[in-house]
Amino acid sequence: LPDPDAAALTDEDVADLLPRPGAESDKYRRGVVGIAAGSDRYTGAAVLSVGGAVRAGAGMVRFASAEEPVRHVRARWPEAVTTVLDPSLVLKSSLDEVGRVQAWVLGPGLGTGPDAHAVARAVLATDVPVIVDADGLSIVARDRALLRRAAPTLVTPHAGELSRLLDVPRERIEARRLEHTRRAAAELGVTVLLKGSTTVIAEEHRPARVNTTGTPWLATGGTGDVLSGIAGALLAGGLTCYDAASCAAHLHGLAARIAARGGAGGRSEAPIAALDVAQALPEAV
Ligand code: AMP
Ligand code: MG
Repeated sequence: LPDPDAAALTDEDVADLLPRPGAESDKYRRGVVGIAAGSDRYTGAAVLSVGGAVRAGAGMVRFASAEEPVRHVRARWPEAVTTVLDPSLVLKSSLDEVGRVQAWVLGPGLGTGPDAHAVARAVLATDVPVIVDADGLSIVARDRALLRRAAPTLVTPHAGELSRLLDVPRERIEARRLEHTRRAAAELGVTVLLKGSTTVIAEEHRPARVNTTGTPWLATGGTGDVLSGIAGALLAGGLTCYDAASCAAHLHGLAARIAARGGAGGRSEAPIAALDVAQALPEAV
């Protein structure tokens, strides 16, 4: 990178693509995003993913998980509607209980054991778009058949996660990031957003896109979880996987820079926490 075949979205492109509420909008039509994330061990990832979706302007966020992450999400984001999933009963029917969801985010902090696998299977069996991130990517790397679905799928790996998905050493991916992002899109039949110092988005039969709005201060735990929630909100709001991924990466990077400067006017950058990125999203939008 830069590559002549990979274009960056401008602020204006993103502004044109972003769904904005009209006078007649209601919360359901603006987009209901479902988030299946978190576990007893990783409650923070769930809080951060929900935060990304809430602050990116989802009409409604529905969170479904085990008791402990549900408790944490309720405490931090009263806007979210929560459902405690009984993993032993996670069949398609128990996701129906979550309510009408227009796009799912699957994976941050979910764990990779049998319960998490059951949740992944149920989410991927739905007929709505799904974003697969973090532990969700480990699950589908072991069971790629889960990605064979009729509805669109967006995967959001960093280089290590893409290495497992493609079964290619991480160093080879780092050396040719654009090529491997495209290859993953073609081989897996999904939209791919590869994270790192620059973000690459690829989908078969479309030009790749790159995003460089971020800051190295983003290299800290939890920022990827926020990104998954942003993309979920945009996908539920009606964007395609390709546009939702591109706009989410762009806004996430802008929000990080705003947060690192202590506001849009600040000059020099300072450390950020992942939740600061979610909090700066309205200013980025
Ligand atoms: P994750 O790897 O899931 O924790 O996500 C990390 C987030 O931070 C992604 O959005 C990356 O693109 C971003 N990121 C990581 N390192 C850098 C960097 N050096 N410069 C800019 N963005 C970064
Ligand atoms: Mg991550």
